[in-house]
Amino acid sequence: MSDRNNLKSTLLRLDGASYKAYKDIKGNYQFPDFTLIIDHVQGDPFASPSKLRVKLPQSVAKFPHQLYQSCSREVALRDYLTRQFYRAATQISFRRGTGKSGLIAITRCGQEVLERTSVFIDDNYVEVRFVVGLPARGRSILGRQATEILCEDIPEIVEKALLYQSLNSKEIQQQVETIEDADWLRSQLVAKRLVAFVANGAILPRRSGVDSRPLEEEAIPFQSPASLKVKFDCPNRGLIEGMGIPEGITLIVGGGYHGKSTLLRAIELGVYNHIPDDGREFVVTNPAAMKIRAEDGRSIAGVNISPFINHLPQERSTTNFSTANASGSTSQAANIIEALEAGANLLLIDEDTAATNFMIRDRRMQLLISKEQEPITPFIDKVRQLYSDRGVSTILVMGGSGDYFDVADTVIAMENFQPKDVTERAKAIAQQYNTERTPEGGTNFGKITPRIPSPNSINPSRGKRAVKLKVRDVDEVAFGTEDIDLAAVEQIVETGQLRAIALAIVYAKEKYIDNKRTISEILDEIMNDISEKGLDIITDFPQGDLALFRRFELAAALNRLRTLKVR
Ligand code: ADP
Ligand code: MG
Repeated sequence: MSDRNNLKSTLLRLDGASYKAYKDIKGNYQFPDFTLIIDHVQGDPFASPSKLRVKLPQSVAKFPHQLYQSCSREVALRDYLTRQFYRAATQISFRRGTGKSGLIAITRCGQEVLERTSVFIDDNYVEVRFVVGLPARGRSILGRQATEILCEDIPEIVEKALLYQSLNSKEIQQQVETIEDADWLRSQLVAKRLVAFVANGAILPRRSGVDSRPLEEEAIPFQSPASLKVKFDCPNRGLIEGMGIPEGITLIVGGGYHGKSTLLRAIELGVYNHIPDDGREFVVTNPAAMKIRAEDGRSIAGVNISPFINHLPQERSTTNFSTANASGSTSQAANIIEALEAGANLLLIDEDTAATNFMIRDRRMQLLISKEQEPITPFIDKVRQLYSDRGVSTILVMGGSGDYFDVADTVIAMENFQPKDVTERAKAIAQQYNTERTPEGGTNFGKITPRIPSPNSINPSRGKRAVKLKVRDVDEVAFGTEDIDLAAVEQIVETGQLRAIALAIVYAKEKYIDNKRTISEILDEIMNDISEKGLDIITDFPQGDLALFRRFELAAALNRLRTLKVR
């Protein structure tokens, strides 16, 4: 194997040469403490940067085994090291020429701790995957600058970010213990018949709509009402108390601006773990929770929305409903049915983003517009059956209609950002003031019809490229010549998840979308492959910028592919 000096002399030799000559440096180099692997060299200074790896033996890195001994701890440590590498690389790297020249970068992590392909660790090695913008002036190689980056800066980053002795051992310990406790808490919910837990002291509000770090000064810590208080004895931190949200139907009510949506948002993201100072690190939710909202304009492919929508104008089928441009209510119906098809067992709905005519239909409207003239069976008439027929719970923010008091098991009022249990009072009011509505939901929820996607309707190619994917933030991915709009899929939190989802659809098309398997079977296969073999299974090439997603978001992306056809 070549060593650092070979790399140095090659780079100096290439100084001034045309950029393409950088291809010569692809390969492995033995540095004093680690191996540097150059997997992919960019074609020009503006192209996506070159892909590199560092493989550092544990004899040098020296991470104690206990820091990665459980699955939870391992994910937490890998996440932690990614953040450290990010920080060190940001401090050290600077622009050294044209385009991306001088960049040293790794996945940027948000508040969530996810399984990522940026860092791996086992008893033998720490492996880190990152990118470098190989430097040039115009299109001529800057060889000296390249040696500085590869032979000096990278060893410095490794020393700062990847050696146990250079890191804050207390902070690492806190990270792995927090994540392990959060995973443990989530695993305890079912036994206590809870769908979510919000710890006392949690800080739920965020700094702004575009900054998901915790609100600092004026934040009021969460405090459970006595009647909903539950306790857990966590493996690391010991006793923890907070509010348990029971299975069934839960309403979150309260005046405007009193913290209802903030609570629901924290619950939505409680399917993921959070870093220790996030404020929501002990807000945990059933992992099969799906945020549901209206999303007019989305496409729908052959969904049986008949539990909610029937006899549309022009006799359009609702048992096999397709459209390129859904309405608010049909999109919300499809979002629910698709979530159930993927296996969701907790629905989260906020009135702020729901279609009113899908949520409620009061007595007066029932009298004015007869059932024959109204295709929609409102959610209020199905929410009970969702739980009794299918075991699917719902948490609903609803400040605008008391009709839901009749169907709720638990009613939580947010008052000045604090929850109160008002279930009894809401039930008493419901007794005293009958809504006089006619129930419209029938005797059962209705059927979820499995769908079989057609492989020919899923085409990731564009021009000469067999696979062309491009992720734009967490909202959109270009899949071949199609754009998949995921702005309304609120539980995608990092671009790495979306990148992995797009690759997983390609992988699914190659392996499992065969005109026989249903969507739910395809999701099972993919998630199973990933949990057995890791995220690398969906790529041909070691890629450092992927993050683990849930089956629900994968299904959501497939369902929003406008060319999708199903049977
Ligand atoms: P609602 O849905 O009830 O209208 P929101 O949840 O949107 O209210 O919250 C309104 C505002 O109050 C937001 O700016 C939010 O960040 C802030 N907020 C929410 N919870 C808290 C809290 N616990 N402490 C301080 N501010 C909060
Ligand atoms: Mg709100």
